[in-house]
Amino acid sequence: MSKLVVMKFGGTSVEDAVAINRTAQIVRGRLAKRVTPIVVVSAMAKVTDQLLAAANAAGRGDRAGALAISARLRNRHLETASALVSGDCKVGVCKWIDAEFDSLDEVLRGLSAIGELTPRISDMVVSIGERLSSRIISEGFRQRDLDAVYVDARQCIVTDNQHGKAIPQDALIEQRLRHHVLPQAEAGRVCVMGGFIGATEKGVTTTLGRGGSDFTAALVGGGLDAGSIEIWTDVNGIMTTDPRICPNALRVKTISFEEAAELAYFGAKVLHPATILPAVRKNIPVLVLNSKNPTNEGTRIISLPPHCRSPFKSIAVKRRLTIIDVVASRMLMSYGYMKSIFDVFDKHKCPVDMVSTSEVSVSLTVDSNDKLPDIAADLSQLADVKYEGRKALICMVGEDIRGQNGIAARVFQSIRHVNVRMISQGASEINMSFMIEEDDAEEAIRSLHDEFFADPDPEIFDVEALKEVVG
Ligand code: ASP
Ligand code: MG
Repeated sequence: MSKLVVMKFGGTSVEDAVAINRTAQIVRGRLAKRVTPIVVVSAMAKVTDQLLAAANAAGRGDRAGALAISARLRNRHLETASALVSGDCKVGVCKWIDAEFDSLDEVLRGLSAIGELTPRISDMVVSIGERLSSRIISEGFRQRDLDAVYVDARQCIVTDNQHGKAIPQDALIEQRLRHHVLPQAEAGRVCVMGGFIGATEKGVTTTLGRGGSDFTAALVGGGLDAGSIEIWTDVNGIMTTDPRICPNALRVKTISFEEAAELAYFGAKVLHPATILPAVRKNIPVLVLNSKNPTNEGTRIISLPPHCRSPFKSIAVKRRLTIIDVVASRMLMSYGYMKSIFDVFDKHKCPVDMVSTSEVSVSLTVDSNDKLPDIAADLSQLADVKYEGRKALICMVGEDIRGQNGIAARVFQSIRHVNVRMISQGASEINMSFMIEEDDAEEAIRSLHDEFFADPDPEIFDVEALKEVVG
């Protein structure tokens, strides 16, 4: 059998008939190279948000609002299907889409009568996005002479019952994939399945969390020992920094799994960090590619990248953060003190991004959120608490900072005019992070980029693109 490649197309790569046509071309290109693609698709762009909005509206009792959103979604899917599929097939697909929306509307009416939305029903409602896109796309592929088969992802992606962020059950998934997907792929057919959705062993629909289609792709790739996993999105892979902030940002050609995971946590919106795990475990390369620019080589994420002359691969920024300072006035740094602080965050289900400690105080950063006053009130039972918003976390990532001298000096020298509030280095050895005022972030990133990417290593960074820009 030829090599298996999992190709995941995100929402913008399947947003309408034009995009789906482009996707079909890309898949055809892979077939020509004697690989067998397994295609994982997101819902069409923005559909998940809209389905959630409909479910929430219904849960609030806003029946008309919920049904209006559903009606718009129905039209969009019918239009896309009609543009992609013709003849008898078109009649069949459109009938099926109508039936799906009829039952969605029934659920929405029921929800608005009861006025309560449970996580289980929410999963059932949002799953429609991927169920529709994958069915429509497989029909569209077939009409473009691709031997495509639709696979209901819920038959393969077995999860526990934590709705909204269900945990995949790897062993069962592998079994199911070998049963439902592998024989089709071995026969040369292109399986098309929705990302993001799964089901419990009993068959109750679940979802893997927002952005979860990448995760599905990695689970499928891992489960079937694919040769590679391609994440098709609308950017040319991972960049040295956000090109909107820094126009001379470069594409990173190769990056390690660890580096990519660090970046993903800090909002480089290209990949979901959990995506990476099933692929890392099996050492399967992940490629980030651009469906609007398919000849671009994108970024290759592998376990052991070649040595790089530049210490950093990329600079990420996360904004809208708040620093919370906890100063131990009453209860000095004693056994159990840290635990009691973290228990507060645990109680409010609030993730902490970065932590710095001294003998008497602890500073933590969190996404600014509306629970902050409650968190601060609970913390003030333990110590004096202050919090301050509008902070940005700059995160510089690179394997090659390990064991190099003078890197921190260069970092802070190049932003010497900026007030640094917190610093963290060491936890992963490949990331140097610090907090500054949000208003200083863009200038700081430009200075750091000038300092570290003035003479980029052509093995690692796409310097050709830069020459084109500079002319
Ligand atoms: N459609 C889902 C979302 O928007 C999953 C995905 O696109 O990855 O979160
Ligand atoms: Mg996505």
